[in-house]
Amino acid sequence: MRPGTGAAPVRQASEATGESAERPLRVAIVGAGFGGLTAARALARAPVEVTLIDRHNYHLFQPLLYQVATAALPPADVAVPIRSILRRQKNVRVLLGRVTGVDAAARELKLGDRRIPYDVLILATGARHAYFGHDEWEAVAPGLKKVEDATGIRARILLAFERAEAETAEAERRRLLTFVVIGGGPTGVEMAGAIAELAKVALAADFRRIDPRESRILLIEAGPRVLPAFPEELSARARNDLARLGVEVRTGAPVTSCDVGGVTVGETRIPSACVIWAAGVEASPAARWLGAEHDTAGRVRVGPDLTVPNHPEIFAIGDTALAPDENGEPLPGVAPVAKQQGEYVARVIAARLRGETPPPPFRYRNLGNLATIGRRAAVADFGWIRLSGRLAWVLWGVVHILFLIGFRNRIAVLLEWLWAYITYQRSARLITGPTP
Ligand SMILES: Cc1cc2nc3c(=O)[nH]c(=O)nc-3n(C[C@H](O)[C@H](O)[C@H](O)COP(=O)(O)OP(=O)(O)OC[C@H]3O[C@@H](n4cnc5c(N)ncnc54)[C@H](O)[C@@H]3O)c2cc1C
Repeated sequence: MRPGTGAAPVRQASEATGESAERPLRVAIVGAGFGGLTAARALARAPVEVTLIDRHNYHLFQPLLYQVATAALPPADVAVPIRSILRRQKNVRVLLGRVTGVDAAARELKLGDRRIPYDVLILATGARHAYFGHDEWEAVAPGLKKVEDATGIRARILLAFERAEAETAEAERRRLLTFVVIGGGPTGVEMAGAIAELAKVALAADFRRIDPRESRILLIEAGPRVLPAFPEELSARARNDLARLGVEVRTGAPVTSCDVGGVTVGETRIPSACVIWAAGVEASPAARWLGAEHDTAGRVRVGPDLTVPNHPEIFAIGDTALAPDENGEPLPGVAPVAKQQGEYVARVIAARLRGETPPPPFRYRNLGNLATIGRRAAVADFGWIRLSGRLAWVLWGVVHILFLIGFRNRIAVLLEWLWAYITYQRSARLITGPTP
């Protein structure tokens, strides 16, 4: 046992020599998002040596990323260094690196040429946006997944106003002041509402030649209604709230093309200089790494204990896993699923180490769905009760503050929100990075 790891030794037979050696069980976790980080923390008291690998040095609170993209919060308020979160947990080693594959037979992770051995592997590599076979749209319609995506979108939105201010041709000015959000799920709804508030309130008095309040904000949804995962009455309420903010909602309208000039929806051309993609996701390549069975979104099909079939030593959790609910429907790609699965696999590993019966199959406890539409407007579905309006909005704020990681971030976000609420201003209106 290495000094200071806090991990008790585990007797393991060496396959090479047949001798038995004592060392702690090596648990490798790929991804320090909601699932991976929760699993690592839940293993704090287990006699294991955890290696947590992420391609970023921070854990990202994705639910508030749209606020970075719309200049309401700076990136540091929604991202926390992984090392600092786990500073006191001695049985975890944090590694910065991009996993490129898994050698399941050798029980090794591949990071380019580098290999990292494991006894137990937890894959929690999440998902990325998907363009349904139109990857070329990504360059003109960026999605929101990483900090860089959010600051890039923020730059696009703010630059559109700056360019419109300098533009003399009316048609081009109108194009610059037209913002299109594709996808009517929670991210699209929140994004469209936030852009509308930015244009119609926060920036209203800041320009001389243009009036930002004349901006057009469109939310395009291919399905029949926005927020399809919510009950119909809450979808309708969200649509009304969006209309009140000045967002034009088009449902039943698939986007058929997307280029630098704008988008085509059905037969209608919408010139726009700022198109944002919030329409679909696909899982990380974890299934490909394992050659495992997966669905069309690339999610690894896992068993009732979240292990990959024929690999009791490999777990897949969160957005990259395909696990059914009690009705056999796939669990949604939301943070509580990933967190509960992270806790669950830690319990399975601890039970195995103690030689106890493993916990019963994983079951998701759905604590409810929330989405905000803007100032004082949100919808909340807890199954037994449905809320909308101001109460749902306050609840949305409280829940997001509570779930943020780190006391500093909670206080910082709370102060930013209070400031914005009182002054109607956005404090993070910076155009940074390369000009899109
Ligand atoms: C914009 C947005 C808004 C959202 N809003 C909500 C919301 O309001 N409520 C809600 O419940 N859910 C929301 N979600 C969904 C929620 O964020 C995800 O369901 C959740 O993050 C899934 O957790 P995870 O651990 O599976 O993956 P993630 O949290 O995405 O973490 C995956 C981690 O793996 C790392 N990684 C990926 N590939 C590699 C690799 N090859 N090597 C090393 N590291 C790698 C990534 O850097 C990342 O840190 C939102 C998602 C987005 C994108």
